[in-house]
Amino acid sequence: MLQDPRLTIIVENSASLDNSSVWAQHGLSIFLELGYGPERIRLLWDTGASSEVMLHNADALDLDLNVIDLICLSHGHYDHTGGLMGVLQRRNGRICILAHPDIFSPKLKDRPALQFIGAPFTRTQAKAAGAIMLDCRGPAAVAPGVMTTGEVPRIETIEKVEGFWTVREGQYCQDTIPDDQALAVNMPGKGLVVITGCAHSGIINTIRHAQKITGVEKLYALIGGFHLMEADDKRIEATAEALRKLDPAIVRPGHCTGQKAVYRLQESLGERCRPLAVGDTIQL
Ligand SMILES: [Zn+2]
Ligand SMILES: [Zn+2]
Repeated sequence: MLQDPRLTIIVENSASLDNSSVWAQHGLSIFLELGYGPERIRLLWDTGASSEVMLHNADALDLDLNVIDLICLSHGHYDHTGGLMGVLQRRNGRICILAHPDIFSPKLKDRPALQFIGAPFTRTQAKAAGAIMLDCRGPAAVAPGVMTTGEVPRIETIEKVEGFWTVREGQYCQDTIPDDQALAVNMPGKGLVVITGCAHSGIINTIRHAQKITGVEKLYALIGGFHLMEADDKRIEATAEALRKLDPAIVRPGHCTGQKAVYRLQESLGERCRPLAVGDTIQL
C-alpha cells in the first residue's frame, strides 16, 4: 500500500529566498518518491524547459536522476519537455517515458507572432538517447495507487483552450491540446491527489476525470499548474467556487496559474493554499 509520498519541485517559475542555489524558470518538473513498505518507486513528472536548469536544480537539490524508475510527461509543450534530453543523457541505460502520442504534433502559439512551443527534440532523438516511448491516449496505472489520467474530457464550458495552434492533415487549426494529462494518486484514508502539468484541459475538468478513473471522490491535494494566467474573472471565480466545494486540504498552485488566480484561491481557501516554488518539498 502506498505510504507517505514525497514531492520535490525541481523546476518552477519561482524560487524562494531560502533556496538560493536553485534557478527559477518558466516550466515545471516534479520528483515523486513513493513508498511501499521497504520498497521505493521514483517517478519524474515533466522535465522543465531546459536541460541546463533541470540538471542544475537536480544537483542543487541532491536528487539522483539515475534512481528514477519512470518519466511521465503532462503534454508536449517545451516548458514541460525541454529538459528531457539532459535527463536521458545524464542517466545510465534506457527508461520508459509515458506520454500521449500527440506530444510530438506541431505545437504553436500565435502571440506575438506564430512560434513553435513544442518539444525541442524529435521522437527519434529521444529514443536514441535511451527513451522507450510509451504512447498512451488513455489512463495508465504506473505504480500501485498512481495513474496518469490520459486525455481529459472537456465538460466545463468555461474552461476553454485558446491561443494554441497546430497543423493537422495539412490544415492550420486550433490545438485543443488533447495530449494534456495529469497524475492521480489515491492515498488510502486521505483521498485523491491530483498533480497537473499545465491543466490545459481545465483544472476542474482534470479533477473530475481523476475522480472518475480512480473512483475516489474526496480531493485531498491539488498540485501543479492550473493554467489561469489569462483567464477572465468569471473563470477564476468559478474555479475558486468549485475548489471551495471540493474542500481539499492542500492546494499548491504554480507555474501557469497566474498571480491573480493564486490570490483569489488564497482568499477563498486560506492557509490551505500556498504557491509553489523550486526546491519545495511536499510530504503528503
Ligand atoms: Zn502547456
Ligand atoms: Zn506549462
